[in-house]
Amino acid sequence: MSEIRFHSGQTVPLEMHKARIVQKIRLVTPEQRLAAMEEAGYNTFLLKNRDVFLDMLTDSGVNAMSDKQLAAMMSADDSYAGSETFSDLEAKIREIFGKEYFLPAHQGRACENLISQSMIQPGQIVPMNYHFTTTKAHIMVNGGTVEEIFTDEALNITSNEPFKGNIDINKLEALIAKHGADKIAFVRWEAGTNLIGGQPFSLQNMREVRAVCDKHGIKTVLDASLLMDNLYFMKVREAACKDLSIREITLKISELCDVIYFSARKLGSVRGGGICTDNSEIYEKIRELVPLYEGFLTYGGMSVREMAALVVGLDETMDFEVINQGPQFIAEMTRQLQERGIPVITPPGGLGCHLDAKAFLPHLPQTDYPAGALAAALYIASGARGMERGTMSEQRNPDGSEPLAHMELVRLALPRRVFSLSHVAYTVDRIAWLYENRALIGGLDFYEEPKVLRFFFGKLRPKTDWPQKLLAKFRQDFGDSL
Ligand SMILES: *Cc1c(COP(=O)(O)O)cnc(C)c1O
Repeated sequence: MSEIRFHSGQTVPLEMHKARIVQKIRLVTPEQRLAAMEEAGYNTFLLKNRDVFLDMLTDSGVNAMSDKQLAAMMSADDSYAGSETFSDLEAKIREIFGKEYFLPAHQGRACENLISQSMIQPGQIVPMNYHFTTTKAHIMVNGGTVEEIFTDEALNITSNEPFKGNIDINKLEALIAKHGADKIAFVRWEAGTNLIGGQPFSLQNMREVRAVCDKHGIKTVLDASLLMDNLYFMKVREAACKDLSIREITLKISELCDVIYFSARKLGSVRGGGICTDNSEIYEKIRELVPLYEGFLTYGGMSVREMAALVVGLDETMDFEVINQGPQFIAEMTRQLQERGIPVITPPGGLGCHLDAKAFLPHLPQTDYPAGALAAALYIASGARGMERGTMSEQRNPDGSEPLAHMELVRLALPRRVFSLSHVAYTVDRIAWLYENRALIGGLDFYEEPKVLRFFFGKLRPKTDWPQKLLAKFRQDFGDSL
């Protein structure tokens, strides 16, 4: 990717790749979309992919792979133990992160299980910039608690702060003073904070956090699943990184971490995961658990083909022209949405565009699940599937009361190298139409509500016949068009 200047003065993203394999997608009629939404209980997780036109649910395991990755899969060395492909992967991790030891795992949450079991004592705290759903679950299962110590800017939807993923140093110092360093299992950074808009932290902030940790003998762990985006933002937003290569920035980040783990469903664009460290004690503790939960130490639940593709994928992650595609498409989509007055998280982050459903649907209280309603309405209007990230994604308190989310977001993930700018323009057009007709969108109510992670399987119904009214207005405005 490179950003190119048009004659008009406008800067637009221009892809530095071409598509040589494509997959057909279907756009069914709005009537069929309404029926599919009904059947899915107004939960976009429950839609069947055959009814989905543009799948913007997630970037997990759905980024496009390169020709070189696919070619590598064909020459992978298949063996249970001692595979040549694993040695290649180990060597690549050592080259990129400069860490001695590597432990494979089948995906990101598996790494979280291994790390939480080995590094958390019951009653300990894990301070972090922001949690991710599976991270928090594993920390809690092992008797730990999560303390989010983000800066005041982190939750401001509209902002000019380039590093909303930073840790607040004063909050970190205060937390250590209050509980004592022994109570802190480790400090966790999440690159490209998933749940608050794909926002990065800066290298400078990492250094400040590490200095505090060193003073108190506290370990640091990096969740590098969304490192691709964070590296891009450091390079373009942080003066001190401007003249460094992506490889140099990666090594500087790595020096500040005792442990790094990642979901290779995101980092490396395959399906797998892994942990690396220089600390032999931590390595030995985790190593005992790998054969128990993942598989033998030379595959950890990954197929050799995925490992071969990961070696190439990690190498491609070090190429600025590869990792800039996602953030530049997201910035362009954000620009088009803002131009039409649509409330969206700024500055644009990685992972996807995030619509602010609270501002989009101010007439709906949070208990009507405005982000869920907007995601359902967008599917009916466009066939594009986003993900609710708001109150629906929260879990009820033990007394049955419902915590309201910090933010009501519809996340429109842009898997890397999968969509074109015409897909972006189409989605923006339908969102703009919904925004004009936002008064028509009503609330939702659960009729099947699972106790745990209700957003995956829960079913809802509209509180009025608003979806039918929305469809009627669509037909009036778009005629026979899909
Ligand atoms: C996706 C993700 C995970 C979990 O990875 P899986 O491979 O889906 O298990 C952990 N942390 C972050 C930040 C993620 O985005």
